[in-house]
Amino acid sequence: MKELCRRCTICCYRKVIAEDGSVVYTDRPCGFLDLDTGLCIVYEFRTRAKAECVRITKKVIDLEALPSGCPYVKDRTGYRAPRLTPRLEKLERETLGAGQPKEEKTSRRKRR
Ligand code: SF4
Ligand code: SF4
Repeated sequence: MKELCRRCTICCYRKVIAEDGSVVYTDRPCGFLDLDTGLCIVYEFRTRAKAECVRITKKVIDLEALPSGCPYVKDRTGYRAPRLTPRLEKLERETLGAGQPKEEKTSRRKRR
């Protein structure tokens, strides 16, 4: 799959499944996420280091767990984006420019 990740880090935060089946994020980052650099400290062997860590595939995208501003899903029609915490919504605006004009978008941090 084409590399589109803008390294926002949001998908490295823990999630829970709501009663209606939707994904809800928490403010708890994965223990392997370096919050200072925004990089995964076990990136090369992340799927072995953490069973729930997955590579981005079409099947993973269909789980509707990526934030709406993520390039893998942002142009999808009918995409049911997960619920983010206020803190992660702010991070999404800052890193993916969700809801902002294109020229205000910035990119940083880790790739998936
Ligand atoms: S841009 Fe998408 S795949 Fe990359 S870290 Fe953010 S949510 Fe994850
Ligand atoms: S990429 Fe690294 S930091 Fe992110 S969820 Fe996977 S193991 Fe954790």
